[in-house]
Amino acid sequence: MGLWMRLPCRSLAGKFTVCTSLVLLVTIACFAYVTIEALRGVFLEEAQDDVETLSEIILHTTHLQMLEDNRDVVYKMMDEVGKHKTIGRIRLLDDRGTIRYSTHANEIGRVTDQPADDCQDCHCPEIAESFPPMESRRRVIRDCSGTEILSVTKLIENQPACSAAACHVHPPEARILGALEVQASLHSVGVHADTYRKNVLAFAVSLLLIIVGCLVWLTHHLVVSPVHSLLLHSRKVAQMELDSHVVPTSADELGALAREFNEMTDRLRQARSEYEQLTETLEAKVQERTAEIAQMHSQLVRSEKLASLGKLVAGIAHEINNPLAGILMFATLFAEDRSLPKEMREDARIIVRETQRCAEIVKRLLEFSRNSIPRKKLKSLPVIMDDTLALLEHQAALNEIEILRGYDPMLPEILVDPAQIEQVFVNMVVNACQAMPNGGRLDIAMRADRDRHYLVTTIADNGHGIPREHLPKIFDPFFTTKDHPGTGLTGTGLGLSVSYGIIQNHGGRIGVVSEVGRGTVFTVELPLAASTMLPAGDPPGNLCVTGRNV
Ligand code: ADP
Repeated sequence: MGLWMRLPCRSLAGKFTVCTSLVLLVTIACFAYVTIEALRGVFLEEAQDDVETLSEIILHTTHLQMLEDNRDVVYKMMDEVGKHKTIGRIRLLDDRGTIRYSTHANEIGRVTDQPADDCQDCHCPEIAESFPPMESRRRVIRDCSGTEILSVTKLIENQPACSAAACHVHPPEARILGALEVQASLHSVGVHADTYRKNVLAFAVSLLLIIVGCLVWLTHHLVVSPVHSLLLHSRKVAQMELDSHVVPTSADELGALAREFNEMTDRLRQARSEYEQLTETLEAKVQERTAEIAQMHSQLVRSEKLASLGKLVAGIAHEINNPLAGILMFATLFAEDRSLPKEMREDARIIVRETQRCAEIVKRLLEFSRNSIPRKKLKSLPVIMDDTLALLEHQAALNEIEILRGYDPMLPEILVDPAQIEQVFVNMVVNACQAMPNGGRLDIAMRADRDRHYLVTTIADNGHGIPREHLPKIFDPFFTTKDHPGTGLTGTGLGLSVSYGIIQNHGGRIGVVSEVGRGTVFTVELPLAASTMLPAGDPPGNLCVTGRNV
């Protein structure tokens, strides 16, 4: 309503109401005008009939006196009648237009001053022939004060009794003897017409106001209000507030429009939720792909790093190995030479121990650099694992570590370098045991993932776990946490990087999941041999290393 009130000429309802009101105003004004004019005509007609009747009465009542040429009585009667307040004047004219008698005495004897046009109908010979004489003439004239006067002129025709009268005033051949003119004021007719005009105008204005009021009310309830609701709703929809609904107030076209709007809003809401879902899915996919790309990139970097490092360490190890062998040999000799003082032999033993440690590191470095070409043959992975555990079981038992094995039956043999894979398993089992210094449980499982064409080995411990910030680094060469004082361990940081290289060269993957305080799970995936693969599923992928906290 507010909007409509503010902009009446710009709103549809405003235009409709203004136009309809104008049409109504013109129609009612025309109707009132026609009605007023018609009534005025009726009043005038009545007045004319009254004056004419009066003229006839005068002529009839004076007829006898006229025959007897009793003019005084006739004039007296006219005077009496002329005293009536509505009668302006009564006059008697002869056939030449001379006023023979008038209630206005001053005009007696004068020739009538009627305008020529009014008289021509009877007095102009040319017109009079084609214009049959009338018994009476009616005219409305105005006196000098502007008051309307009705003039009725009644012809006095010659009758046999007139020409035969004793006075012999009129010859028998005369057709018209004269005329009686009665003039009556139309003041009362004007008053009545004015009263009626005022009433009609008041009625017309009231009618107009009522109709316009009804129009405004109906337009507001039937058009403005529903259209306003639709407008508000469409604004909300434009601002993507798709939970709003229009309440259909009627069963007409606007009601149907409101229902269509609601349906359209529902469809828009549905489309938006589908779009949002799609966006979420897309975002998730983009994130997934980005993570994969990042992983592939880090893999590539690591592979390149390992390759160049491999070459470097191979050279260094080779160069160091010979001097180390000499140092070890002479230090052993010194340590066992009883001729030397005890302190010197003790120092020599320290040199032997440390040199052995260096030799171990060099051995590892050589292994790390040599892992590029595996000598593969079909071998059962559970057998390799059992061989590995046979070496370590005793130490594990001493550390109160329980080893549980869960191998799927009927696992196929796969193409591997048994020595290298055993080295991987040794690294992982040793690391797991070292992560459980106070004992624990080591779960080793193997299963075939035939859909993905992998044989999956999991080595799970419930040791101290790997901190989140270390996870991305544990496969880097020389990354170790075992050098920290208080651990009582020494590490080279090459075990996992060597294992990583071995598994990579086998076309497999290593994954790790760890939670500090709860344990670590290493997953080694090695491709099934071609003869053992099922046709379904993805082809084996490149090496993939994952590391995340559980
Ligand atoms: P090293 O054993 O000589 O330290 P590795 O490459 O084998 O080198 O291991 C790197 C590091 O990964 C270890 O120092 C240790 O911090 C972490 N790590 C590996 N395996 C485990 C495990 N099962 N539990 C906890 N930490 C582990």
